[in-house]
Amino acid sequence: MEFSHPMTDLSTTVQSKVSVCDHPLLRHYLTILRDCETSVEIFRMAMKRVSQLVLIEASRDLPLSPRSVKTPITETVGQTLSPDVPLLIVPILRAGLVMGEEAAQLLPTARVCHLGLYRDEETYLPVTYYNKLPDTLSYEKARIFVTDPMLATGGSAVAAVDLLKKQGVPGKNIRFACVIAAPEGIENLVKHHPDIYIFTGVVDERLNDHAYIVPGLGDAGDRMFGTLKN
Ligand code: URA
Repeated sequence: MEFSHPMTDLSTTVQSKVSVCDHPLLRHYLTILRDCETSVEIFRMAMKRVSQLVLIEASRDLPLSPRSVKTPITETVGQTLSPDVPLLIVPILRAGLVMGEEAAQLLPTARVCHLGLYRDEETYLPVTYYNKLPDTLSYEKARIFVTDPMLATGGSAVAAVDLLKKQGVPGKNIRFACVIAAPEGIENLVKHHPDIYIFTGVVDERLNDHAYIVPGLGDAGDRMFGTLKN
């Protein structure tokens, strides 16, 4: 894997909070995402595929309940997702939208609660401009999937988890799902929220001076929505 950052460079505590979803299909589609020759259409398709693989890992420990069904042959008892555990998908606008859609396909009973954050040019602090998190949900049991493909500095990820915790979500119920993570973003998110779990397709080398991930894939939102300036 030529692009990945050795996880061993991260402290053991930090490593224990990160799961890198290793799968040949993920490597394949990730390389298509990285390629600057990839068209918007193919980029979106590859983003969906990588997101799906990461999200399958992130949902690995969802609780199940027994359910009796009749097959064409006989009766049997299977398992379906527990109706007692509310599922919430929190896509961070706008780059988290496609990952959020994939999460909604996998978890059809989940609520999708968009969160819009931007960084104030003067204070550099994240400002919330859109927040569809429900006030009334029983968060003690809920499982929350925050989606944002690029964990770069970790600023918006930390702010999103801050908001969730303010509304009463226990950190242990939060899964942060991304496609590419920078070591700096992982360190920052784990430092502020050591009780959450991070799922990523890869850990890249570092951030550059403009806070882009190296080697990365450029601006995920612009490439996904075809809004590159040149
Ligand atoms: N956001 C992106 O879209 N790309 C990066 O490399 C960093 C943040």
